Amino acid sequence: MKTIEFLDLKKINQTYRSQFCSELNDLVDSGWYILGEQVEKFEEEFASYCQVDYCVTVGNGLDALRLILLAYGVGPGDEVIVPSNTYIATWLAVSQTGAVPIPVEPSPNSYNFNCQGAIKAITNKTKAIIAVHLYGHPVEMALLQEFCNKNQIFLIEDAAQAHGATYKEVRVGGLGNSAAFSFYPGKNLGALGDGGAITTNDIYLADKVKELRNYGSKVKYVNNVKGFNSRLDELQAAFLRIKLRDLDRCNRRRSVIAEKYIDAFSQLEHITLPIVHKDCNSVWHLFTLQTHKRDALAIYMEGKGIKTMIHYPIPPHLQEAYSELGYSIGSFPISEKIHKEILSIPIGPTMGDEEVDYVVSSILDYPN
Ligand SMILES: *Cc1c(COP(=O)(O)O)cnc(C)c1O
Repeated sequence: MKTIEFLDLKKINQTYRSQFCSELNDLVDSGWYILGEQVEKFEEEFASYCQVDYCVTVGNGLDALRLILLAYGVGPGDEVIVPSNTYIATWLAVSQTGAVPIPVEPSPNSYNFNCQGAIKAITNKTKAIIAVHLYGHPVEMALLQEFCNKNQIFLIEDAAQAHGATYKEVRVGGLGNSAAFSFYPGKNLGALGDGGAITTNDIYLADKVKELRNYGSKVKYVNNVKGFNSRLDELQAAFLRIKLRDLDRCNRRRSVIAEKYIDAFSQLEHITLPIVHKDCNSVWHLFTLQTHKRDALAIYMEGKGIKTMIHYPIPPHLQEAYSELGYSIGSFPISEKIHKEILSIPIGPTMGDEEVDYVVSSILDYPN
């Protein structure tokens, strides 16, 4: 029986093996492993790719979000609006500053961030809003951009799943005051380890995050604030520079696969397909189906040798970690429905046509 990996990371990274090895050799010989030339160059290249003035790399995506919030002075007594349907890291970043995450339900159509809902949730304690470009689909931001600008609320993008996506032809990373990216191996731009970055046009923010990632210090052994140790390795920066050059091609392959899936499944009544607004160019980090019989479909796919995943099985508000907020089943019914019905099927830059066709025919053959 065939096996179709959910995301074939081995195959993805083998594509660049000889370039990776040559970078590793050079790095060993350089004698300089933290905050050097590779990080500096990657920051320039990624800023330019995102069409913004500044990129500052950090240790991971969670830290990128946390350091943005801390740099803007978010802390105890503040509220930060977050999606109820997201990976828990979005919420954890808020909690780690001492502020409280205020969840809002997704739009019932797109399942992405609901800007109107976010505006309704604003109180006089709201310091920032984190819009998550979930599954690679950019949030329709226009309303929020205008509102946050007028009302001096920080608009932060969680772009951990959306490297290269655009909204109205503008790249994510430049749609708010600042954006957080993750380079976790499975992301569209993934390192061979942990990594993250912030992007912004705000020089004050870029400087502040540079200080916070490096012990609160701009000049060695002079500490202005109590900072952290959250830096991207030179080796990971070198790897990411190689993969960044190939990112658009990889994202295009994902889009071609997504279009094939949408064409093939649009007639299936038992399946709801993702909807992406015409102003939004998704990079298809995940391809998510929704069906009432999710668990049965997942078992059927397993039997066909096709790996699937659930993003995510338990929403943040029902996690033990967030019991202090006092939510229960029914608090966010749209999110809960999504978490019960969603199934991610394989999509990735190295998936061949034959593999895609096998996934398509398997789902079409599903005895619903
Ligand atoms: C992956 C992810 C993060 C966290 O990134 P890490 O690098 O794993 O810390 C944050 N938000 C979202 C939406 C993510 O998918």
